[in-house]
Amino acid sequence: MNANLKVYNTLSRKKEVFEPINPPFVGMYVCGPTVYSDPHLGHARSNINFDVIFRYLQYLGYKVRYVRNITDVGHLTDEVADAGEDKIQKKAKLEQLEPMEVVQQYTNSFHSLLRKINVLPPSIEPRASAHIPEQIKITEDILKNGFAYESNGSVYLDIKKYATQFNYGELSGRNTEDLLEGTRALDGQEGKINSMDFALWKKASPEHLMQWDSPWGSGFPGWHLECTAMSTKYLGKQFDIHGGGMDLQFPHHESEVAQSNACFHCNPAKYWLHNNMVTINGQKMARSIGNFITAEQLFTGNHPLLERAYSPMTIRFFVLQAQYRGTLDFSNEALVAAAKAYKKIINGLRVVKQLKQEDTTPIILNTALNEEIISLCEDCFVGLNDDFNTAATLASLFNLLKKINSFQSKTVDIQTIAASTMTLVQKTYVDIVENILGLVEEKVADSSGLMDGLMELYSEAKVQKDYTKIDKIRAYFKAEGVIIKDSKTTVDWQYEE
Ligand code: ZN
Repeated sequence: MNANLKVYNTLSRKKEVFEPINPPFVGMYVCGPTVYSDPHLGHARSNINFDVIFRYLQYLGYKVRYVRNITDVGHLTDEVADAGEDKIQKKAKLEQLEPMEVVQQYTNSFHSLLRKINVLPPSIEPRASAHIPEQIKITEDILKNGFAYESNGSVYLDIKKYATQFNYGELSGRNTEDLLEGTRALDGQEGKINSMDFALWKKASPEHLMQWDSPWGSGFPGWHLECTAMSTKYLGKQFDIHGGGMDLQFPHHESEVAQSNACFHCNPAKYWLHNNMVTINGQKMARSIGNFITAEQLFTGNHPLLERAYSPMTIRFFVLQAQYRGTLDFSNEALVAAAKAYKKIINGLRVVKQLKQEDTTPIILNTALNEEIISLCEDCFVGLNDDFNTAATLASLFNLLKKINSFQSKTVDIQTIAASTMTLVQKTYVDIVENILGLVEEKVADSSGLMDGLMELYSEAKVQKDYTKIDKIRAYFKAEGVIIKDSKTTVDWQYEE
């Protein structure tokens, strides 16, 4: 456990020391995708951001239950006005598919992306449509508590009534009075008392494809309600972290807060964490604006905005270069730079794993150097503890890498640091890169035996002074993005940076 970890809480609008409700357990809920289209760079970002948070909390020794849902019903095309068509039903009609076929297809493509970018699966991945009884129960309880009303087969949360006891707008920093004032002209729509009231349960027309029986007739659950039902079912009425994109703060998360207050008389989460958006030329990347790039397009380079293809780990590295609350601006230049920097980090991983002190040569300790290296290792965690600042972590990691490379190039004698420091360097570098940042080597060849075999052929050609063969092998490696490092006594390879 780590008392140094601070997280920025949207609810209090400040950084707070992270103290779980019931340590060593941590409950974390993050809003998952509505599966009606292929995932894009924005989805990759949000999932990588929360993956690092999940990984780091586990690294610190917490037992994390991470719940990330799949929205397969109830998310309407007009989120703010709480109206329009169900996004999945709309797609199903368009493609002449069953709604659950749409759900399966895009859940598959979402999972496929996450595997490629090395995002760990959550502990539980519940689906909204599998939690209808839970959603009906919460609706009933909110009605019983007097914060909701039924109107023509739909049930709405009564914001005016709610505002007499709670503050609608506390999470997103909005003022209830302003919200009610601004929408008065629309009063009465769809049987709502006030247009700010949002649906807990919606009556379904006969042709609606996904509907269930309820005490109020046949209908379907509201989008906000499903997250309250699934988070509280698996994590309790109040849990530690609720996460999601900044664009979900209002109305989605604000409404989740209202539902939990109205049902359980508590805010569902102690810490609310929100990741920022991906932008293109300063504008948010979104399907609704049409300026989005799907993950698959990034990997193939098949999009007018892309100058080339980028590998999954390049995308992951690019995302990590920004703190999760900062914007991340897309550009080819930034991605090319990310590809280079990623290779530097991975070359470092190969080097650090091979570093070895000589048993035959005594260690003559350079105390100042020793202390400098220990502090470089400690620095790597300063950024992570400061609200999961991966940008700062990467900067510290590159400082450590300089030292690692100086050992390899023998500009600094490895026998001048303590064995324990050596172990610390290796552990820190590997833990940060692989276990916390989740960066793994994208291998040139699937089998390391193949690389070893080729290196052996190269060494033989060198002994035989067969320069034609040497050039051939070098050219072959170069085409694959690998360069051979030749010294008088050894040969090795590294990724071209
Ligand atoms: Zn949600």
